[in-house]
Amino acid sequence: MVGGGPAGTAAAERAAAEGASAVVFEKGVPRADREDLGPDSTDAAGFLDYWVDIAQLDVDALPEGVIQQELRDAEFVGPEESVTVDRTGIESSYDGFGFTFQRAKLDDWLREQAEAAGAEYRVGDAVTDVESDLSDGHEHTLTLSNGEEWTAEYVILADGPQRRVTMPVLDRFLPADESASERLSPPRANHIAYQEYRKFPEGVLDEDSITFWWGWMPGETAYPWVFPNADNVARVGLTMPIGMDLEGVETADYRLLREDDESIPNGSEYIRRLLEELYGDEYDVESDFPVVEEGYGKSKGTETYSISSTRPIDSPTDAGIAVVGGAMGTTSAFHEGGDHVALRTGKLAGELAALDSLDAYNDAWKDAIGDEILRNVAMADVVADYEPDEWDTAFRVARRMLDSADSGKILTRKNASVGVDGLRLYKDYKKAKFRYRKGKYVQLREAEYRY
Ligand SMILES: Cc1cc2nc3c(=O)[nH]c(=O)nc-3n(C[C@H](O)[C@H](O)[C@H](O)COP(=O)(O)OP(=O)(O)OC[C@H]3O[C@@H](n4cnc5c(N)ncnc54)[C@H](O)[C@@H]3O)c2cc1C
Repeated sequence: MVGGGPAGTAAAERAAAEGASAVVFEKGVPRADREDLGPDSTDAAGFLDYWVDIAQLDVDALPEGVIQQELRDAEFVGPEESVTVDRTGIESSYDGFGFTFQRAKLDDWLREQAEAAGAEYRVGDAVTDVESDLSDGHEHTLTLSNGEEWTAEYVILADGPQRRVTMPVLDRFLPADESASERLSPPRANHIAYQEYRKFPEGVLDEDSITFWWGWMPGETAYPWVFPNADNVARVGLTMPIGMDLEGVETADYRLLREDDESIPNGSEYIRRLLEELYGDEYDVESDFPVVEEGYGKSKGTETYSISSTRPIDSPTDAGIAVVGGAMGTTSAFHEGGDHVALRTGKLAGELAALDSLDAYNDAWKDAIGDEILRNVAMADVVADYEPDEWDTAFRVARRMLDSADSGKILTRKNASVGVDGLRLYKDYKKAKFRYRKGKYVQLREAEYRY
């Protein structure tokens, strides 16, 4: 396993449980909330009810401190309108709307599970190269940053959205003009995410709710959020496309832009402006909502990540290689979470490799998470070019749809019949789903690999 986040660790646990000799190589990232080096625990960390089933996560087995808040609902706030969503409308075994969790603690627990199953978890040395010999079956030689070499029959690439190892490995099986390095290159395929741990004044933070603001900043899938931790601390963050500029952007349309902005504000400026917009009338944001520098985040209570914004890719399984989790783009194009699909794709790849059946992987992951990917990719397409007023319309429609859907599915034709805007949204969504049906959401197909 290259990478020891949720996907790589879940793969190792399953592979070892099936009797394989499994080793995770994790380069190791320092964090203020973990003593030793560990995986790059992207700590915005919310989980919805049905994700528990997709992830096959035994919530009752989680040690204390992993789950931070049970969630009552999620609030989506547009420039003028908002909608509070208190159910996903998808069947699930989890009794509740969802929860926020502490990623470093979840990752540490996943590692313990993998080690208990017999896997080895090596942290501190990056994988720098993978050479694949397909002359007689498949054998892969991994080189580590300390110069060590390891050989393995199967390689599971779980190096997250930066894909520093995944891209060159896949390139060997693709024509030069269709290379993975080109198609999945991080500035194009990823968004940037930044967040700060802020202490809120007593009584201000709604601890049972996560909130997202849409149409407040320009860019496709660009939005800030507040995720409650415990003790009045929240992760205030945002994601936006990499390298955006203000060309063609009407600054007056966006609440987090200022008339004299000459470029897109940086993450911390955006967060300051968000808090000012929300609480500036009553509070002095810098002193009343301080960044908590000790014990939180990657550096001084802040963290920066890349986040995958691609559609998922198939793996070259004939070469004994599977790509899982963020590296395969299963953090949805809509960024609607990824730990659940990372866990599931990791589990499938680990188990199938151990059973010498990795050729079943590309079908298996589509069976397991295809519906989830299809929903997210389709909805991401529908809203890709939304302007602020369109977000308001969408939230107004969503509110009415929720009102007319007491239980069961939310986005149905019946519920959409609340008005012309509802029907339009429903039709656009159905059309997008049709476009991506039968696995067409895959952006690099198995048939494209050459061996
Ligand atoms: C800001 C942010 C907010 C998010 N919010 C949520 C959320 O609320 N809910 C949710 O479910 N998901 C969320 N996600 C998505 C979630 O974090 C990812 O889907 C998940 O981390 C993917 O797991 P992974 O194991 O595939 O990759 P990662 O967690 O990225 O792990 C990859 C690992 O590989 C290691 N690595 C990389 N290169 C090498 C190398 N060369 N050698 C050795 N090791 C290497 C890295 O150090 C890292 O530990 C969020 C992501 C971000 C960035």
